[in-house]
Amino acid sequence: MPIPTELVGSLPRPMTLQQAYQDLDDGKIEFADLQKLQDEAAEDSIKRLEQTGETYVTDGEQRESSFATYPITDTLAGTGLADNLAGDGQFFAIFDDGHHRQLPRLTGGPFRYKTFASEFVEKNKAIASKPVKQAVIAPSMLMLLYPLEEALEGYSRDQFLDDLCDEVEKDIRQAFAAGAVRVSIDFTEGRLANKNDSRNPWTNKDMLQEFIDLNNRVIDRFSPEERANIGIHTCPGGDNDSVHSKEVPYEKLLSKMFQLNAGYFLIQCASEDDKESVYKMVGEYSRDDADGVPQVCFMGVINPLDPTVETPEQVRDQLVTAAKYIPVERLGATDDCGFSPFSRDEKPKHGSPDFARDVAMEKIANRVKGAQMASEELGV
Ligand SMILES: [Zn+2]
Repeated sequence: MPIPTELVGSLPRPMTLQQAYQDLDDGKIEFADLQKLQDEAAEDSIKRLEQTGETYVTDGEQRESSFATYPITDTLAGTGLADNLAGDGQFFAIFDDGHHRQLPRLTGGPFRYKTFASEFVEKNKAIASKPVKQAVIAPSMLMLLYPLEEALEGYSRDQFLDDLCDEVEKDIRQAFAAGAVRVSIDFTEGRLANKNDSRNPWTNKDMLQEFIDLNNRVIDRFSPEERANIGIHTCPGGDNDSVHSKEVPYEKLLSKMFQLNAGYFLIQCASEDDKESVYKMVGEYSRDDADGVPQVCFMGVINPLDPTVETPEQVRDQLVTAAKYIPVERLGATDDCGFSPFSRDEKPKHGSPDFARDVAMEKIANRVKGAQMASEELGV
């Protein structure tokens, strides 16, 4: 079987759409006006992705406030926030360029999603002629909605985690039921968990094992056949062309991440200085049999934060080298991250999000071509 390819999920939102998110926050337009532009951008994403030759298509998360907050708020500024939440939660991440992103804060129970990803899948299925994938958020990210130290009156942490796992399971099951053939779980907080950033207290608490155990509580509710199509995405962040945890030694994460009983992984690698050591660790730690399913390792061969477009030959060469360490039947090709995980992203290194959208399509097309070339060279 040729080396499979899959994108993570997001694409830069057109500037007109980003402005509409702002206009909704400013009360200048209604939610229905925003949705109209979201739908247009989603359709454009799908049509253009189909032209790149990508196996699975997405709407590029055009309808999502972010990859992490789509279930609980309509905009990053908190317009349309779900019940029992306030805007001033923990930092999700502080990025290398100094900007940060903040999560809402849970104020009481019960915790419930207001939006499930299946809403997007249904709309995308109606447009797409290729199979549709959907990214969802991990419980390990949303557990940070609960205050880090103190307990909420009348709603214990354990009660919250029970509710959270139920909501994430429902999010995944409904996405499949709506027609998604692949569902990947975003796990960007995995590497960040060992950052020990004094400005961001949760990164000082060695939470990685807790994150993995919590995520497995959900993943283990699925059969091996289902888990073959449930993935995990890891990266050191990607927002405004900046990262949040690239300096954290990758082995801290990679030595544990494959404990997750997922059937595939979308693994940042192209932007690493020493890619070969990453292939080696992935080959060493990934499993042939994760409770009934082999773990397919999609290696990042494209850097979405850099406007320079990788050539198909560069992609081919990375994959051929990776195949020295990772069994080729468990090797795939992906991008290091989504191209714009947050809805407001100026893509400064690119000059504009509209240009970054064009660049993303070229990069994806070259990844697909490079994976074909590597498959030919490796005889698969
Ligand atoms: Zn990412």
